[in-house]
Amino acid sequence: MNGFVKGGLVLGGAVVALGALRRALDPTPRYAPWEKPRYDAFENKVLVVGGGFGGFTAAKKLCQLIKDREDVGVLVISKDNFFTFWPMVAGIVSSDVDSRNVAQPLRRALITAGASFRRATLRKIDPENNKVTVDGGVEFPYDHLVIALGGLPNFFGIPGVEEHSLTMRGIEDAEQIRNRMIERFEEVSLMTGEVPDSKLTFVVIGGGATGVETASELHNLVHEALQPDYPNIDPHRVRIFLLEGMDHILPELDPALRKTARTRLVNQRIDVKTGAMAEEITANCVKLKGGEEIATENVIWTAGNRPNVAIEDLDGLPVDERTGIKVDEYLRVEGYPNVWSIGDCASVPDVNQENGAGVPPNAQAAVQEGKTLAKNIIAAIEGREPEPFEYKPLGQLVELGSDFAVNEVMGVRFTGKLAAIFWRMAYLTRLDSPQSKAHQMTDWILGMFIRPAVTSARVNPDE
Ligand SMILES: Cc1cc2nc3c(=O)[nH]c(=O)nc-3n(C[C@H](O)[C@H](O)[C@H](O)COP(=O)(O)OP(=O)(O)OC[C@H]3O[C@@H](n4cnc5c(N)ncnc54)[C@H](O)[C@@H]3O)c2cc1C
Repeated sequence: MNGFVKGGLVLGGAVVALGALRRALDPTPRYAPWEKPRYDAFENKVLVVGGGFGGFTAAKKLCQLIKDREDVGVLVISKDNFFTFWPMVAGIVSSDVDSRNVAQPLRRALITAGASFRRATLRKIDPENNKVTVDGGVEFPYDHLVIALGGLPNFFGIPGVEEHSLTMRGIEDAEQIRNRMIERFEEVSLMTGEVPDSKLTFVVIGGGATGVETASELHNLVHEALQPDYPNIDPHRVRIFLLEGMDHILPELDPALRKTARTRLVNQRIDVKTGAMAEEITANCVKLKGGEEIATENVIWTAGNRPNVAIEDLDGLPVDERTGIKVDEYLRVEGYPNVWSIGDCASVPDVNQENGAGVPPNAQAAVQEGKTLAKNIIAAIEGREPEPFEYKPLGQLVELGSDFAVNEVMGVRFTGKLAAIFWRMAYLTRLDSPQSKAHQMTDWILGMFIRPAVTSARVNPDE
């Protein structure tokens, strides 16, 4: 074979390979735009409200199960046209993660899979007449309804929390926390006299995974990103507190991992206070039970979650305000054979626990529920028996900065740099959008050589 033919074969192979890669990254939608029937024209209409971990997984799995049939239509309604990849949200605080990579596009993925999507906020559910109402009074009918509205912060009625603290329940919240730190640095740079401690003291309340990760990311923001840009501010003047009411942080983890995590935080000079109950928050201090006060103008609340409040307006559905919509082991809302609920807004019984405990509100549970739910809806449509949901916890991964994590995966515990690499790989592969995967991987590789440059865009800079 002469060199010319060999060169032609290599070039041809490369073109075929690039074509295959392009198809994998940009798959052909199930329906061409002119072929797709309207959602309300399908014989069986499945309506999913909430496009997060639970709702999105359920919709995608349903589309997979019905790809060879034309009698089932799936519509997802969600108040945003993206779903939030929560495990990476804390990384936005230090700019280790870019917001656009955490906001996973819902439309592209759902339309490609064969579902329909509407961005709208749920206003009312009418289970007697099988319809829901969204903004503007628009109504959507259903034969099966999936409620997957997620959770909201719980302030437990503690005075001042809602008014004076930032929360960590969304991409904008994480950006706000980062911007608050930047604003404080800018403000302090302009001060000529004594700088009050409260300006540069950040108090994170809640020692669960979200609080621990947030405190670590704040530390990284100060010491990695801001330090070189503000030579007039001693980074050690910034004090970060992590407050936890129980006697240990990270209650979901094994005690040895908790200890490792706490040591890491303390080494980063994060002041971890356990058994510390916040009783009141004012504009410039956190008051603790027992009388101690921490002077701060920067409080971040991560201490509690509750099922999404929208569900309190559900017409007659069985709701426990603390744990959510009551479903049976098949994920069906008690008393309503064609209404289902999953994720943080649902109170799902754990069939493996004898004490009546429920499935914990986390992403892996919501994803597993979404898959079982899709199968159960198809079983219901076909008149077959549904299967009970069995939660199989895979483990816990908690990142403390870009070079350290504490992980427990299927009973194996590991910590440190290797654990941090595992954390990154595990979540990178779980991002749905190929664009996000590519961007985030590139950012992390670049981050090994270049410090992040951090700015905050202000809406009203003259105010
Ligand atoms: C900062 C943070 C970090 C986390 N990290 C982890 C982690 O590392 N590992 C883990 O397992 N779990 C983690 N979790 C928990 C996990 O994200 C949730 O348990 C999971 O997202 C639950 O899935 P869901 O579908 O119930 O809710 P979500 O994923 O929150 O989705 C709810 C959806 O409902 C939509 N919605 C809400 N209200 C309305 C309305 N009125 N009308 C229309 N749509 C509405 C929302 O827009 C959203 O799309 C974290 C949570 C937070 C807050």
